[in-house]
Amino acid sequence: MPDISSDLVLFNELVEVLMNEEEQHPVADRIDSDKLYDSIDLSLNSSAMVDEEFKAVLKEVIVSTPKTATNLFFNQLFGGRQGKAVLGDLLAVMLNNSMYTYKVAGPQVGIEQEIIRQSCNLIGYGSNSNGTFPTGGSMSNYMALIMARDAKDPNFRSKGMSQPMVAYTSEESHYSNAKNASFAGIGRDNIRYIKADSVGRMIPALLEEQIKKDINDGFVPTYVNATAGTTVLGAFDPVDKLADITEKYGIWLHVDGAYCGSVIFSNKYKHLVKGIERSDSFSYNAHKMIGTPMTCSIILVNDKKHLHDSFSNDADYLYQTDGDDFNLGKTSFQCGRRNDALKFWTLWKSVGTNGLEQIVDQQFKLADAALEYIRSNPDYSLYSYDDSISICFNYKNIDPTLLCTELYENQITVVGFGAFNEDTFVRFVTINANNEKEDILNFFNVLEEFVAKNPNLIGVEEVVQESL
Ligand SMILES: *Cc1c(COP(=O)(O)O)cnc(C)c1O
Repeated sequence: MPDISSDLVLFNELVEVLMNEEEQHPVADRIDSDKLYDSIDLSLNSSAMVDEEFKAVLKEVIVSTPKTATNLFFNQLFGGRQGKAVLGDLLAVMLNNSMYTYKVAGPQVGIEQEIIRQSCNLIGYGSNSNGTFPTGGSMSNYMALIMARDAKDPNFRSKGMSQPMVAYTSEESHYSNAKNASFAGIGRDNIRYIKADSVGRMIPALLEEQIKKDINDGFVPTYVNATAGTTVLGAFDPVDKLADITEKYGIWLHVDGAYCGSVIFSNKYKHLVKGIERSDSFSYNAHKMIGTPMTCSIILVNDKKHLHDSFSNDADYLYQTDGDDFNLGKTSFQCGRRNDALKFWTLWKSVGTNGLEQIVDQQFKLADAALEYIRSNPDYSLYSYDDSISICFNYKNIDPTLLCTELYENQITVVGFGAFNEDTFVRFVTINANNEKEDILNFFNVLEEFVAKNPNLIGVEEVVQESL
């Protein structure tokens, strides 16, 4: 057997380097992409590299890589580090199972199923429910759309499209909806984007109006995607009201909770997805609000029959022992599949469901601190709303795209920008539950200091506005 003990020693040494860097330089020095290959030796060569050189290159790569776990990283839509989840992921790498069969994954199958079972219980799905771990939120949405399509027309799987299907989602929803409609054979042009209200939630009355029109025009309404935490504003579509409509017209209702679906763990905030038990499928990303390493996405299906109908395929070479409930490959998209469950399970097991609740609640607490700061300071204008961990603002009317770029290029802090209706703004995301209120105030502090030292930033916007 190969001895990897020296690699593990090196691993520990490199992790020390990383943790130290995170302390000393929470925002990594940025390398311009056009200078990247001149700055670090990333080349692959025919000859071997001696250990010391190898180590030096690794250190350089670590130091120059953007730091996502520090208290100055507020970019979309993950951040921080949950130690017990890191532990689980490292073990998953060492164990290196593929999640398709009980034969090769053993208890890991039970770990995945336990997370799915508990999640289904939390949202009130019944005993027929089940789920799987896709590669991410986009893939979860894709699997939901495929199940909706096949539920509407079981012949679609073998014959292809025979009726003009349409899917509905809000104009604020994630862009994967458009890609997925094309992958699923429904077509990008057959998505209806429903307008959102003034705080970013899909307007149910407009959805119903559009459905009626489509039926009249000979289309087959197939799928409604509701979003729990829209990508920019963090808004929650009204699941209960949308379920009234999907039930009335016999349309699949999926809730995309990739960003904020983890509110299901919070007694205080789960009202934001009220009616979730009436949906046909629901997905959430534990690598976003829960803070596990990338990626950890879960899709739950109210009736597991749909998972089997759409995704199972017999393969005698693969499924040689045990029943379907233990051979998870029968309900997954891929064949070989990484173990994304263990890292979530080690965290959940160690902190309990109450601990996950605290992780979620902490993010809203940090958001409230940011809101309070912005509202009490006239130099800021606010563009986001309560019950969201996306805090959208502008400072002294500085062009937000310019401000974010300058903050990043000068290693001050990493934060993104977004747009809603006519407005563009800084989008500050309080998703790192390791942070405290001081870290939030520190963000505003470093931002203001930077602007004070670079007053020309304020002028730039004025020039741009005058020229418009
Ligand atoms: C992040 C996000 C997705 C995509 O998830 P990935 O894991 O990045 O593919 C989908 N929907 C929403 C609302 C998201 O915020």
